[in-house]
Amino acid sequence: MPTAGPRTTEHGDGITAIDTDLLRPIFDASHLILENGRAAFVDCGANSSVPILLAVLAAKDIDPADVDYLFLTHVHLDHAGGAGLLMQSLPNARAVLHPRGARHMIDPSKLIKGAQAVYGERSFFEQYGDIVPIAGERVVVADDLQAFSLAGRRLSCLHTEGHARHHYCLADPAAAAVFTGDSFGVSYRELDTGRGEFIYPTTTPVHFDPPEAHKTIDRIMSLEPKQLFLTHYSRVTGLDRLAADMHQRIDDFVAIAETHANDDERTDAMHRSMYRYLIAEIRAHGFAGSDDEIREFVSKDVILNCMGLEFWLDHH
Ligand SMILES: [Zn+2]
Repeated sequence: MPTAGPRTTEHGDGITAIDTDLLRPIFDASHLILENGRAAFVDCGANSSVPILLAVLAAKDIDPADVDYLFLTHVHLDHAGGAGLLMQSLPNARAVLHPRGARHMIDPSKLIKGAQAVYGERSFFEQYGDIVPIAGERVVVADDLQAFSLAGRRLSCLHTEGHARHHYCLADPAAAAVFTGDSFGVSYRELDTGRGEFIYPTTTPVHFDPPEAHKTIDRIMSLEPKQLFLTHYSRVTGLDRLAADMHQRIDDFVAIAETHANDDERTDAMHRSMYRYLIAEIRAHGFAGSDDEIREFVSKDVILNCMGLEFWLDHH
């Protein structure tokens, strides 16, 4: 099917959201930051996303040699699966990773095994293909609060656990922005209403950690950002309400897990509760679509979130 070219959104401050076209449109974003002729990507989607990112560089007349950094917020494959392949086209870029994530991009074998356990081997391969390693000398390990200069624009890494132990957020004070990966939940633009954005946590296996997830929300908000850029999906504002919603929904997700902890058909029961909860919340937010539409929309998250919550129940 012919496509109209990459779906991009210009957010000002040299920031462009690029739809990596993973799973469905407007689901998974890579962000491009431009400063004085130098460029950086934050997250990059999967192998199938790489031609899209390169097409955006070409359309903006940016030489791939002018990309200085590929910031990978964490090593889940919808954020970093295409990183090794992308790096082959960015001769001067360094891949910036959390100390706990770096080794998994240099040798992705554990990452692949973990993801296959979550997605199943065949659908893993259909979605992600062969994961290309990144040469160790091109990887930079980012300590907490470590800053990088993009043509003088200061970008700093904040270690943020709760979603994954190998996660950092990228603070961009020049734009009063933070690139939050999955640390500040997911917020799909289709669910925007007159009340603003709808947001909820992502509790993907295997590191969901409720107290750390709460701390992370507070840590991000302590920077007093005006805008956040989520991987799923891009810019949100009105952050005081969204932070409160995130705190509430982390607790609500934990309550769903605990309610069903000892059920015989625990997975099914949790799925039902999570659907009921999200449908009610999205309705209360003023979304006009049908329950079936909501159900279809959130189904991937419900499955992954419940999987992560069950892992947490069994291991914490
Ligand atoms: Zn993730």
